Amino acid sequence: MQVGFIGLGIMGGYMAANLQDAGYDLIVYNRTADKAQPLLDAGATWADSPAALAPPVDLIFTMLAHPEAIEETALGQDGFLAHLRPGSLWVDCSTINPSFARRMAAEAAERNVQFMDAPVLGSRGAAEDAQLTFLAGGSAEDLERCRPELESMGKRIIHVGVVGMGTALKIVFNHQLAISLAGFAEGLVLGQSLGISKEQLFDVLLGSAVVAPIATAKRPKLEAEEYDVDFPLQLMQKDLHMAAVAAYESGAALPLGNAAKEIYRLAMRSGYGESDYAAIYQFLLEEWDVE
Ligand code: NAP
Repeated sequence: MQVGFIGLGIMGGYMAANLQDAGYDLIVYNRTADKAQPLLDAGATWADSPAALAPPVDLIFTMLAHPEAIEETALGQDGFLAHLRPGSLWVDCSTINPSFARRMAAEAAERNVQFMDAPVLGSRGAAEDAQLTFLAGGSAEDLERCRPELESMGKRIIHVGVVGMGTALKIVFNHQLAISLAGFAEGLVLGQSLGISKEQLFDVLLGSAVVAPIATAKRPKLEAEEYDVDFPLQLMQKDLHMAAVAAYESGAALPLGNAAKEIYRLAMRSGYGESDYAAIYQFLLEEWDVE
């Protein structure tokens, strides 16, 4: 039995490769076909469309940019959902919002397909090294069904709760991440505007109790002012939007998250959408005209 994998971007490409290394026979699809080539060279089968991928699998993974991409891939004209066999399991690893996960689960259930949200903690390096953490939302039975495959892509699996709950925890996580790094970037720019060197700011702030460890991880990019992409800034802005939608639906207020979301949006409008999200620092430097 083949395993289906759709979405071979920064994360999905490595995740699919790790499944392949673990011995799974893959059938893959990606909107941009070139990205599948390394997997095809290693023996995977190419499907010409999401619909064509579905019939030979009873387990399918998606790792796509945002809900719109998932909706198009699952339910669009060539979508896979109508072509999956009854009893199949669809595991979506993308970062989405909980009500969208529940809607996809309902769409799947109408076709007698099970759905699980299993977004990931960890970026490019963790995906490459099979060190991801999966946050699973769905039934214990469905999780057991796909546990061996998840274990070949990650080091830890947390069963958060029913469908949508993995996603709920993921967007809380990225809400923290986005605000932490934007806050650190703003502090750096403030310090530089006051005449403190970047080196001294790094030396005093990094490792102290007031700065999140993610800033230390991003130090090389911030120092070099080069933002080769691990996690695209535009996807961080999307995740803040996912948090905003979820908060709207739950009745929570998200003043800091929404302010951060708009700062990342302004950075996108200045051309940083495809850079790593650490480029939020570069955007603020330019806005403040700090050297
Ligand atoms: P990415 O490299 O930009 O890949 C996005 C994937 O979605 C690609 O396969 C892309 O296809 C596809 N896609 C985008 N729009 C589409 C559309 N309209 N129709 C069909 N396919 C579409 O992003 P990534 O970093 O791998 O992220 C994938 C997911 O993981 C996102 O939900 C992200 O938030 C989440 N995530 C990312 C990281 C990270 O550090 N990068 C960490 C944790 C979670 P093409 O190749 O044709 O563009």
